[in-house]
Amino acid sequence: MTTLFISHPSALLHDMGPGHPERPDRVRVIERALEAEAFQMLARERAARGEFEQIIRCHPEAYVRSLEEAAPQHGLLHLDGDTCMNSGTWEAALHGVGAACQAVDEVMGGKAANAFVAMRPPGHHAEISTPMGFCFFNNAAIAARHAQAAHGATRVAIMDFDVHHGNGTQDIFWADGSVMYASTHQMPLFPGTGAANEIGEMNTIVNAPLRAGDAGPQFRHAMESAILPRLIAFRPDLVIISAGFDAHQRDPLAQINLLEEDFAWATARLMDVADASAGGRLVSLLEGGYDLTALAGSVSAHVSTLMGRSPGASSS
Ligand SMILES: [Zn+2]
Repeated sequence: MTTLFISHPSALLHDMGPGHPERPDRVRVIERALEAEAFQMLARERAARGEFEQIIRCHPEAYVRSLEEAAPQHGLLHLDGDTCMNSGTWEAALHGVGAACQAVDEVMGGKAANAFVAMRPPGHHAEISTPMGFCFFNNAAIAARHAQAAHGATRVAIMDFDVHHGNGTQDIFWADGSVMYASTHQMPLFPGTGAANEIGEMNTIVNAPLRAGDAGPQFRHAMESAILPRLIAFRPDLVIISAGFDAHQRDPLAQINLLEEDFAWATARLMDVADASAGGRLVSLLEGGYDLTALAGSVSAHVSTLMGRSPGASSS
């Protein structure tokens, strides 16, 4: 069956200023990489605009309204030291939500086997009522709740291999036993959360921190020992990946040394989890990844694996 790729031009208009690592070129290099011959069979859709009712399943109405009202017509509005809005941010954030929910609709509806969404801003640091860490709306959390509300999913698993801990996703599902949140991340590092003893009120939060300097073997060991058995035992109806590629060794924001093949391996193992209980249903959403070469290569490996192609088998 088909792998679906979803993006929208609005992702290129959210711009947090010169020199900011979370920049429009991130999506440009991904779109260019996925134009290669190897991705000819990829189905492609343009994201719909997200709806208010999809967002308020995770964020209070007042929070959403305050962001909408704050959005500047020109210039930059700083929300914290490294998160700001320009005139394109609001539309990009809404289409990021729309893309995530559209991916869920297509995968839960059986139109696609799995899907990868390349939108920005990312989402996993956005807490219930707090934008932070380049994030405004928690796309992965909204996608999980959309699968439950619109498609009757009982249990949804979110695996986050971004090098930063997804404090926002953990915050949203801290007391919700119907969503498992699992994360590998460098610690200590921004945002400071994600210790192994943070397990949530329902024991459905699974944190497997890595140390600066760790590489593929430590990452795979953390996945195999701490995370994959928990995800399989949870028996999710849908697997969502918070797919950040900033644990790559070239990434300037952290000190984990993963390679493209490690992302391909993790993708394949998460497809195994989806195969075991979710009929293969998997939705992957772009989070971080700030070295453009590493990002393009890692996304290529990730999407090749989603398409059932052995990573590196096709050149581009
Ligand atoms: Zn990150």
